[in-house]
Amino acid sequence: MLQTMLSQEVMTKAAQRLMKLLPYNKHSDVIKRAWQLYRTGHVYNVTVEDDILKGKVTDRGHTYEPSFQLKQAASSSCSCTTVGLCPHNIALFLYAYNQIDVVGNFIRQWKEPNTKQKLTGSTEKQAVSEEKQKVTNTPSNIEHMTKTNIVDAWWQSFEERYDRMFLYDLTEEEHMRKLVQSFFPTFERPKSKAPFLDHFYYVHAALFTFVKLVHIPQQEWGYSAIMQERHVTQFVPKVQQAIKDLAKKTSTAMHEQLIYASIPYVRNILSGELTYFRQILDVYETIWNDVLTDPTYREEECNWAIKQLNEKGSVEQQIPFIAAASYVSFLLENDQQAFELIEPFPYLATEQIVNFMHISFAKKQIHRGAEWFYRLEKHIESYLHSLRMNDRDWFVRTVLSAYRQYSIATKSDETERYEQLLQKLLPYSFYMYIDYLFDEQKWKELIELYMLEKATVDMIPTYHLKSVEQADRSLVLPLYHQTIMYYIEQKNRSAYEQAIKHVRKLRAHYRALKQMPRWEAYITKLAEQTKRLRAFQDLLRKGKFI
Ligand SMILES: [Zn+2]
Repeated sequence: MLQTMLSQEVMTKAAQRLMKLLPYNKHSDVIKRAWQLYRTGHVYNVTVEDDILKGKVTDRGHTYEPSFQLKQAASSSCSCTTVGLCPHNIALFLYAYNQIDVVGNFIRQWKEPNTKQKLTGSTEKQAVSEEKQKVTNTPSNIEHMTKTNIVDAWWQSFEERYDRMFLYDLTEEEHMRKLVQSFFPTFERPKSKAPFLDHFYYVHAALFTFVKLVHIPQQEWGYSAIMQERHVTQFVPKVQQAIKDLAKKTSTAMHEQLIYASIPYVRNILSGELTYFRQILDVYETIWNDVLTDPTYREEECNWAIKQLNEKGSVEQQIPFIAAASYVSFLLENDQQAFELIEPFPYLATEQIVNFMHISFAKKQIHRGAEWFYRLEKHIESYLHSLRMNDRDWFVRTVLSAYRQYSIATKSDETERYEQLLQKLLPYSFYMYIDYLFDEQKWKELIELYMLEKATVDMIPTYHLKSVEQADRSLVLPLYHQTIMYYIEQKNRSAYEQAIKHVRKLRAHYRALKQMPRWEAYITKLAEQTKRLRAFQDLLRKGKFI
């Protein structure tokens, strides 16, 4: 175990050296970044050997492998190409330091080196910090505390509880399983009658667990990757339930401060792995919808998210903040801004527009919901063609089901609008369009669509063909012409035989229509066109067509 392998003396000396090497006032950016990475669970798989710490740190979607030389901090290195100290190897050090003393104290000492606080984990101080921990672990005791930052104390206690549980190496999937099956269940779900603060504490415990979960990188493929996804997905409803239970409680003015102090912790989830983006967004949206209801908070959040996204270099880094800013804008009923933010991103836009439409209709804001549908409708063609091939069927299903919800909510039955959608979604809407035309008994359009997709008579369900023939036999003639040409172009004997079969059928149709002169003209022309295809000519003669 890491804890037993770390020497208190070596760690304390390393901490002192680190403070000298990087004075806080000159290097606060690097230190703050390291502190943030450590606190938000970006450090894992930590080992120590020969006074060298090794581990992994994920930072903005990349995984780095820093190593920290406890006896020669300046000679540390990192795979981010840094020689010396970088946020990753400092975060690694903080992780290890947490095994011998409270990291928060160390950081405070670093910030203000002149205060007479000794950097040793003396037994006396440990006792104090353990006492504090006990207090902070039970929310109801805190009700009497006047400090505003109980939330900070909670997170610190979660972090300590977490570190006690995760001392040895685990695979990513095992780590997640332990989080949801062993770590989170140590928090007791409050009864519905329990006071606000008990519920609030439980929400934070759930958020903490969720933050840890979504910062564990997902394997690229295979069974573990599927299980990882499942752990995250199955945990989402637990967080959401805790949030919804909390939302039912009435809060006082004092609680309001705590709610506000929660916002930075909620933001932590946005820096999770992009592979869990949907789950992250689900939790983020629930808490902003149900608990963080004050419009001034929402204004502030929106500005914050927009500022964040403007500071990011790549679209991948921007996406979580775009989604956040858009959602909060929607909550503020600034729909135009909500839309403009997501508009350039077909996947995000499609999902969120449908989501926003849903919510509006559910709130009986029919006009607002319809507006969201029109926004989707306007972008159908451009979105369809910018999606990956594999996802276009998903898009078609999403749009058509959105239309159904739209038409139910607005009580409008605009079949023309629906048909236009089907047309715009071709060829991916082919089967749905076919079904629609069949149901509407639009026989001419049905045959035209089949012909457009170069279908042969043999590919069309018999009952479709029969229905069209019964309604108007002349409609199927072009289809037979096309089918015959299709087989002739294959240029082999068995295809020619198929062609002849359809020539015979076609003649029967002309006869039934009493249009034999047109048939004669057709067959003469066909014989002329195919005069060099001797095998086909033989078959025509054999069948007595010429
Ligand atoms: Zn680094």
